[in-house]
Amino acid sequence: MQNQRLRIALQKSGKLSEGCFELLNKCSFKLRSSKNHYLIQSKELNTSFYLIRDDDIPGFVDSDASDIGIVGENGYFEYILENPNHNLEVITKLGFAHCRLSIAVPEEGTIKSINDLHGKTIATSYPESLRDFLAKHNVEAKILVMHGSVELAPKIAIADAICDLVSTGATLKENALVELEVIFESEAVLIANKNVDTEIRSRIDELVFRLQSVIDARDSKYIMLHIDKAQISKLQEILPGCESPTVLHLHGNDEKVAVHVVCKEGIFWDTITKLKSIGASSILVLPIEKMMA
Ligand code: ATP
Ligand code: MG
Repeated sequence: MQNQRLRIALQKSGKLSEGCFELLNKCSFKLRSSKNHYLIQSKELNTSFYLIRDDDIPGFVDSDASDIGIVGENGYFEYILENPNHNLEVITKLGFAHCRLSIAVPEEGTIKSINDLHGKTIATSYPESLRDFLAKHNVEAKILVMHGSVELAPKIAIADAICDLVSTGATLKENALVELEVIFESEAVLIANKNVDTEIRSRIDELVFRLQSVIDARDSKYIMLHIDKAQISKLQEILPGCESPTVLHLHGNDEKVAVHVVCKEGIFWDTITKLKSIGASSILVLPIEKMMA
């Protein structure tokens, strides 16, 4: 019986939402983003999706307005630092929305190390994470809270440094800033309220199983090739994450065999070159849609 709805909070639009929609749709949900749509009901696992701002997701889950949510680890850490008596837990990392929370300073400035931040002003949208980092490093600095456009602060001299999310570093470069210190690395995570009942918990487990199958398949490839029997152990050294290959007889050929294998790590051109160097031929690399453990 699935009477209660499983409630899932997602970012409505932004850097998390595209990855969330893509991942969930591969798990058989049919989610579409639309401008004025804040609630999506799905028959799949009897779920309700709440589409809200990412900042509101940890609070929604913590206060039992939602059972689970997808949020950046940075947003989760900021929330739990501010709310030490929270009811949240991280269920699993989701492998997208990779970025890092970093302190950055003007390229041509005098701040060259963490200690140079003493007595300075740092602009950020993540005051709790920054406060925690500064305390751990015994640095006393003033924190200026801004909810966006943080990179502007040093330019207009209201702060000496910033603490913000970085992915490629292009925005920092455009604003003549350079990374001084990475506070932590972040990616999207599935969070849950620790106190959900057993019915909801089993539906979360089913969802996590589906998510994990898609995540595991994402970097995995199914490889088929022909090779001399004698080279199979070398082949296993070359192929990353390759476990127990299937070896098949080739009609009319006693020296070569067909090998089928699942590789759990990325296959790059240099891997193919190495395979060819040990005599592999007829190499096929195929994507895998889902991988059930
Ligand atoms: P909202 O309107 O929902 O409050 P926002 O503008 O605060 O959105 P986004 O910029 O969409 O938030 O970022 C949401 C989350 O995506 C961040 O908290 C972080 O975890 C992740 N993120 C931010 N920047 C990047 C990036 N450049 N690449 C990948 N992930 C990122
Ligand atoms: Mg936000």
